[in-house]
Amino acid sequence: MSSLKILVVEDEDAIRGMLIMVLQQAGFFPTAAKDAEEAQNIIHDNPPDLILLDWMLPGISGVEWARRLKKEPIYSDLPIILLTARGEEEDKVRGLEIGADDYMTKPFSPKELVARIHAVLRRSGKILGQAQICLGDLILDIDQHRLIIGDRQLEVSPTEFRLMHFFMTHPDKVYTRTQLLDQVWGRSVYIEERTIDVHIRRLRKILEEYGRDDLVQTVRGFGYRFSMVD
Ligand code: CA
Repeated sequence: MSSLKILVVEDEDAIRGMLIMVLQQAGFFPTAAKDAEEAQNIIHDNPPDLILLDWMLPGISGVEWARRLKKEPIYSDLPIILLTARGEEEDKVRGLEIGADDYMTKPFSPKELVARIHAVLRRSGKILGQAQICLGDLILDIDQHRLIIGDRQLEVSPTEFRLMHFFMTHPDKVYTRTQLLDQVWGRSVYIEERTIDVHIRRLRKILEEYGRDDLVQTVRGFGYRFSMVD
């Protein structure tokens, strides 16, 4: 995990320097940009695993750039933590609405920052080699291919495991059958789209045993969403 790259986009030299130092000490490889334009070049040449993005930047604001990135398919999964001096709840909501993965109000402690980065990287599945993926009260045991909910655990077949792994690391977003095929089976495999439905049904059956089949939601005319929220 020490090879994870984090791009810092911050126009204030002192804060940027501080962030780079904190990231280096935490074992990350930081890169830095002073504005969105410079940051855009960096992600094109050297894509990071996560972006720490200042809200207030000269030129294109951080929040506007984040909104644009999240709309581009190749960058939509790139985790973004927005940093801001503005602490209003409304800003926080706006930041998360445009697709930022987290939001932090300055000043924050280095320890808090590193903890939030780890949490976002874990959620996005960027931290590999971990034994478990946790989402709410669900635990997916990577080594044993087991799904644990409360005090119950069930073995999951390889395909359902991969599907569950994808869903737990990408919650609350709607995916089309084609997107799920690409993400879970890979582009090189030819599978008919209705095969997805078969596997979704199997996964629901597994979750039904926990009374949790509502986690996999059908979004009519579009695809599927995995969500802890109804
Ligand atoms: Ca700023």
